[in-house]
Amino acid sequence: MYDLAVIGAGWAGFNAALRARQLGLKVALIEKDRVGGTCLNRGCIPTKALIQSAKIYSLSKKSANFGIEAAAPQINFLKIQERKEKIVQQLHSGMQFRLKGIGLVSGQARIFSPQVLKVGSEIVNTKFILVATGSRPIELGELKFDGKKIISSDEILNLKEIPRSLLIIGGGVIGCEFASLFCAFGSSVSIVELMPQILPGIDKEIARKLENIFKKKGIKVSTGTDAKHVDLKDYDLVLLCIGRQPETKDLDLEKFGVKLEKGKILVDEYLKTSISNIYAAGDCTGKIMLAHFAAYQGRVAAENIAHPDKPKKAESANIPNCIFTDPEIASVGLSQEEGLSQGQDVRIDKFDFLSSGMARILDETEGFIKIISDKRTEQILGASIIGPRATELIGILTLGMQSRLKISQIRDTIFAHPTLSESISEAVKTDYAI
Ligand code: FAD
Repeated sequence: MYDLAVIGAGWAGFNAALRARQLGLKVALIEKDRVGGTCLNRGCIPTKALIQSAKIYSLSKKSANFGIEAAAPQINFLKIQERKEKIVQQLHSGMQFRLKGIGLVSGQARIFSPQVLKVGSEIVNTKFILVATGSRPIELGELKFDGKKIISSDEILNLKEIPRSLLIIGGGVIGCEFASLFCAFGSSVSIVELMPQILPGIDKEIARKLENIFKKKGIKVSTGTDAKHVDLKDYDLVLLCIGRQPETKDLDLEKFGVKLEKGKILVDEYLKTSISNIYAAGDCTGKIMLAHFAAYQGRVAAENIAHPDKPKKAESANIPNCIFTDPEIASVGLSQEEGLSQGQDVRIDKFDFLSSGMARILDETEGFIKIISDKRTEQILGASIIGPRATELIGILTLGMQSRLKISQIRDTIFAHPTLSESISEAVKTDYAI
């Protein structure tokens, strides 16, 4: 009899299993595919590995700007794919190694009763279940994935060659990252987005800025446009990425009284479902579909299962959101629009990377940092960045928000020069504030 059976070895399930073992529970981790889930095998890691190759290509094309004369760089796409695979494989081995002491069960789990799971012919008896089955890409009405011309983010990661023309339906985070990537590799890229802006939900000024940068690079962006008005015949390949839905349909959870809403597993603030010994974490709860949030929820669920006497709330504030386009985008907390619409007496500080010494040295001056704070308490309410290393810089502001720092404390902190991080303190030193 296990104390805990975790279904799904993605970032939520893996972290939950490690934490539960650390807390002394006997744990089974059930995975039907590969340990690492979406993030490692077809999400965060492979996309960023490809993006790094695209970055090297773009940088080498402009090496003469840095006084380095080199022959025109050539793309070897198969090598790029091999490098990506190697990184995934290395991380996969590392994860397998870390699972020592956890009963890894391969196969699709089916819930037989709230204490019994079936994995193929194997029976897993358990006191608690944590569902961490992740999510999968959504199709668009009549437009279905065919694995050849109309593909999802799963297949685009494994292309053997760079498409000449690529239509991306959905200008969200995944769509914009692939647009940026394949444009850098020389594809002719078009984005169709139903909403009035790409990256819906992101600071409007930043989304507009990225749209302008995309257009300058030759990416065609059509916002407020329904994909059904687009002729797919005009493109070699169509990436459909309009969102993801929780992967819960094969589990029959409702049969055991677990409440779902549009496929999302409903959990309370302690990540418990409507059945007292079944918990859920990660994308299958349909909250914030990000790997670090899934990992956090997994850890909190494991702690609550191990220590039901001192339950811990799973928070959803101060979760950074990173977009690995060129330039990068990152945000945490409130956007400018959200700050102003909540009627809070907000102050908005801004710093343009044009004035940053390090941005000039890197030759990446496009973009800015925006920090939203409460005028009265001086506490940071949110921050949005577009520009070099935005995805690293946001960590400082996330820590600032989590620690309830005042902007005057950031102003008084001495950041090293010349660095990109000093731009954060420069932002709150400027007179520009509304
Ligand atoms: P998953 O990682 O999906 O893991 C669920 C696991 O459960 C899977 O391995 C699946 O095989 C298994 N499973 C499902 N059903 C069963 C069953 N019945 N029995 C056994 N096993 C089962 N997030 C970021 O934070 N940063 C990024 O840069 C980023 N980039 C992304 C890029 C792309 C292209 C995509 C698609 C996603 C990206 N994400 C990113 C999102 C991130 O990958 C997910 O939020 C994260 O993987 C969710 O983790 P999870 O553990 O909830 O689910």
